[in-house]
Amino acid sequence: MNFTLPAELAAWQQRVRQFVRQELQPHDAAIEASGEVPAAAMVGLRRMGLFGTNTPTAYGGLGLSMLGSCLAVEELAKAHVAFYYLSGVNVHIGSKPIEFAGSEALKRRWLPELASGRTIAAFALTEADAGSDAARIRTTARRDGLAYYVLDGAKTYITNAPQAGLFTVFATLDPSLGAKGMAAFVVEAGTPGLKVGRTVEMAAGRGSSHAELVLESCRVPAENLLGDVGRGFEIAMRSLDAGRTHWAPIASAPPSGCSISRWRARPRARPSATACASTRASNGCWPTWPPPCMPPASSPTRRRGATITAVPASALRPPRCRS
Ligand SMILES: Cc1cc2nc3c(=O)[nH]c(=O)nc-3n(C[C@H](O)[C@H](O)[C@H](O)COP(=O)(O)OP(=O)(O)OC[C@H]3O[C@@H](n4cnc5c(N)ncnc54)[C@H](O)[C@@H]3O)c2cc1C
Repeated sequence: MNFTLPAELAAWQQRVRQFVRQELQPHDAAIEASGEVPAAAMVGLRRMGLFGTNTPTAYGGLGLSMLGSCLAVEELAKAHVAFYYLSGVNVHIGSKPIEFAGSEALKRRWLPELASGRTIAAFALTEADAGSDAARIRTTARRDGLAYYVLDGAKTYITNAPQAGLFTVFATLDPSLGAKGMAAFVVEAGTPGLKVGRTVEMAAGRGSSHAELVLESCRVPAENLLGDVGRGFEIAMRSLDAGRTHWAPIASAPPSGCSISRWRARPRARPSATACASTRASNGCWPTWPPPCMPPASSPTRRRGATITAVPASALRPPRCRS
C-alpha cells in the first residue's frame, strides 16, 4: 500500500499546517482562559474554507475528498480542539444531512451558508434516554395539515447549539416503528417553539459549547423534511459516519505544547459526569456502579488497579434493566 499523498493534497496539508501554526495556535491559551474562540480565529477559519472542506464546490465548499478533509482536521487538532468543534462539526454532522437528503432548494439555500461559516449548523439526535441506541428517541413529529409538521421533545449534548443558526432535528412519527418511524427536519434558529436550553458542561474541550434543545409545538414547514418520513435514522447514521471518520485524525494528532491542557478533565465537571454515568439509560438499561464486572473496592485485585480483563468471564453480567 502506498501512503504517499498526491501532490495537491500534500500542498493543502502544508497550507493548513502553516495557517494553524501562525493563526490558530497563538489563541490556544486564551481559549483555555476565556472558554471562547476569538473572532480573529473565526475569520481565518472562514478564509481557509474550513467550514466546508468536504462540501461540494457546487454548493460553495472546497469539494475535498474525505482524505483531504481529514488532513485539514489533523492539522486543526494540533491547535485547540475548540476550533474543530466549530468548523469541523459544521462540515459533517452539520452539513451532511442536507447534502445527503435535502431537496435542491434546501441545498441551495443552506449549504453555501454553512460552507462559508456564516451560519453554524447543529445536529440534534441525542436525548436523555437515547444515546447509542438512537432509534429510541421520543421527540415526536406530527403532520399539521399539508404545509407543516409539529415537533415536540427535548435533546441533549447538542454541539454548537448556542451559536447555531440551523438545526437538523431527528424525531419520530411513530415510536412503535423504531428506526423506521424516524424523520429528519431542518429547523431554523428563532422558529417559535424551538429553544436552546441548559448548557451541558463537558469534562474537557473548553471553548466548545454543548446544550440542551427544547421543542414545544414547534411548527416546521413540510418542505424542511429531509428525504422522506422513515429515512431519519439512515440520514443520522450516514452523517455520523462522516463525523466519526474525522475523529480519527483528531485522536492521532499530537497537541501543541500550550494546548495539552485541553485534554485534562476539568475537576468541577467530574461530579456531574459521575451522576450522569449512574443514571443514564442505554438501550433501555440502567448502568450499575461499580459495574458488575468490577471486583469490590476491598478486593486485592481492584486495589492493585486490575483491569476488567483480569476478571473471569463468568463474572461478566449484562447491565441491570429497569423493567
Ligand atoms: C462532546 C460531545 C458532543 C456531542 N455532540 C452531539 C451532537 O452534536 N448531537 C447529538 O445528537 N449528540 C451529541 N453527543 C451525544 C453523543 O452522540 C452520545 O453521547 C453518544 O451517542 C453516546 O450516547 P450516551 O452518551 O447516551 O451513552 P450511552 O448510550 O448511555 O452509552 C454509555 C456506554 O455504554 C456503552 N453501550 C451502549 N450500548 C451498548 C450495548 N448495546 N452493548 C455494549 N455497550 C453499550 C457505550 O459504548 C458507552 O460506553 C455528543 C456527546 C459528546 C460527549
